[in-house]
Amino acid sequence: MNPVDVLVVGLGPAGGAAAAAAAAGGLSVMGIDRREQIGLPVQCAEFIPLPLGSYAQDDGVILQAVSGMKSYLPSGAVEQSAFPGWMIDRAKFDQALATQAQRNGARLHTSARLVAIDSAQRTARIHLDGAEHSIGYRMLVAADGPHSQVATSLGWPALQVVYTRQYTVELKQRYADTDIWLSGDYPGGYAWLFPKGGLANIGLGIDKSHAPDLKQPLDALHRQLVRQGLVGETILSRTGGAIPVGGMRERLMAGEGIVFVGDAAGLTHPITGGGIPAAVLSGVRAGEAAVDWLVGGRTDALEDYEQDMRDQYEATLQRAVARRQWLAQFWNTDAARDDAVHRRGWIAFPEYFEQ
Ligand SMILES: Cc1cc2nc3c(=O)[nH]c(=O)nc-3n(C[C@H](O)[C@H](O)[C@H](O)COP(=O)(O)OP(=O)(O)OC[C@H]3O[C@@H](n4cnc5c(N)ncnc54)[C@H](O)[C@@H]3O)c2cc1C
Repeated sequence: MNPVDVLVVGLGPAGGAAAAAAAAGGLSVMGIDRREQIGLPVQCAEFIPLPLGSYAQDDGVILQAVSGMKSYLPSGAVEQSAFPGWMIDRAKFDQALATQAQRNGARLHTSARLVAIDSAQRTARIHLDGAEHSIGYRMLVAADGPHSQVATSLGWPALQVVYTRQYTVELKQRYADTDIWLSGDYPGGYAWLFPKGGLANIGLGIDKSHAPDLKQPLDALHRQLVRQGLVGETILSRTGGAIPVGGMRERLMAGEGIVFVGDAAGLTHPITGGGIPAAVLSGVRAGEAAVDWLVGGRTDALEDYEQDMRDQYEATLQRAVARRQWLAQFWNTDAARDDAVHRRGWIAFPEYFEQ
């Protein structure tokens, strides 16, 4: 295969955004994803905050507006807070970013899996069309999610993750809020309902080292919501996946022109699990850094990328990691039923932001 300026591994929101930005700057860009179709199957609750709506303008991407968040504490007390954003069709969102990358000139391949990289030689081995190929690159963007094969190839440590399980069900009434349940039943995570028109994504994240089973608590929540007449009994689809919760990697770049973006970089919020905004923004910024370096000759462009990400996200991620560690002492104890513990552990409460 002909060498490329930029090889983007993974075409989720981070990779799609990186490929679009690098190709817009005139670089030859190849993007690969092991999935057969970009964005599918969806592994997401499909919420994005308001400002990210500018990346969701294609037909059919936005499904409904969300205005608030109701956070339910163990006692039953509810905190209502502003939480403006959009519910999206996540597959279409990812596909729109990829389409933009193609319009800008990037070549994208699906069913194309990175096997390994030789970072010293700047080559990648890719499994595509039933055979293994070697491809040279000048820069590689690791956008391959929580279990990054690029990181494994470099001998970097695996990211700490929380696992999730989610059902899509009928929503019996129009809903403008997202519901969040904080409880000792969801150690290391929380449960959610995100409304999308006549449907809802209900799910939960749990740290499996505290409680291995996700099905039983999600089924219990589902039954409760059915009894309340809020959602339908039939499970229309099931999904799940891993969410990085250990905060930003120690380094976001490897010496030989490799940068990490999105989940692969550990940019996902360790308390909320929200990662689409950081994925898109880090992808765009990495694509721009590629152009600054490979077109503009700015040799420190990749260091600048890493510094920008640290300036933007490190303090927020560190607070969230610290809160996770603090919360961990209470899981599977009586204190996990204490509202005060959850008020300090969830972003909707002022206590979360206190020292
Ligand atoms: C159940 C669930 C609900 C969530 N809900 C929300 C939410 O509502 N809002 C929010 O902001 N965030 C949410 N998140 C987090 C969000 O989905 C991620 O932060 C986001 O997808 C990160 O984007 P990314 O591009 O970095 O990685 P990904 O979206 O994971 O994309 C990585 C891509 O790399 C590909 N890949 C992996 N390995 C290889 C390989 N070896 N070769 C080729 N391709 C490879 C994968 O197929 C995948 O397409 C949720 C996560 C889960 C699991």
